[in-house]
Amino acid sequence: MKNVAQERRQPYVIWHEGYVQPEDFERRNGHRGAVVWFTGLSGAGKSTIAREVEWRLFEMGKHVFVLDGDNVRHGLNRDLGFSPKDREENIRRVGEVAKLFRNAGMIVLTAFISPYRKDREQVRKLLPEGDFLEIYVKCGVDTCIQRDPKGLYQKALRGEIPEFTGISAPYEPPEDPELVLDTEQMSVEKCVDAVIDLLDRQGILHLSG
Ligand code: ADP
Repeated sequence: MKNVAQERRQPYVIWHEGYVQPEDFERRNGHRGAVVWFTGLSGAGKSTIAREVEWRLFEMGKHVFVLDGDNVRHGLNRDLGFSPKDREENIRRVGEVAKLFRNAGMIVLTAFISPYRKDREQVRKLLPEGDFLEIYVKCGVDTCIQRDPKGLYQKALRGEIPEFTGISAPYEPPEDPELVLDTEQMSVEKCVDAVIDLLDRQGILHLSG
């Protein structure tokens, strides 16, 4: 019923274009807005790398913000669980929020497992080409189990957490990401350098002239 009502209302919801356009934010900020989407298993290093990149960009005077999976699930998405449908909705909402931040001229770094390829592709479609950068934080499940920074793998292996990605729920790696960070081979610092370099090459940071 709710969807029908929503559909009926849609034609009367008018999009209001602002006077301040993305290029105005870009001129003032000295960089473009963009969404940098980290995906990978729990414990692969998404949050660690995103936080370090945030700090580096902040120190460079860039407008940057991290949207972190765990934090968003405490608030905006606290009504959602981990079924495929709820995971889809989780990523859809985060994609929309990331788009708003990007429209406000910011570099948004998102750290979500986002295990399904089609959900990530839906977010890519929300944004202009070149403004969505998918980064695969690659790490084997055995190493993630060893790291287990939040103790979740131990619980999942004991069967205490159902639908845990990599143990009892699938993870679909990106087929053509803008960047792969193999955190079993690369230090955190090397990963951060590679992300900054990617942003520069994509013309987001305006560093190389
Ligand atoms: P995720 O956000 O993907 O769930 P976290 O960033 O919370 O992962 O945890 C990753 C863990 O792996 C941290 O304890 C971090 O210190 C460790 N780690 C070891 N090597 C790396 C690396 N090269 N990059 C990122 N994290 C690493």
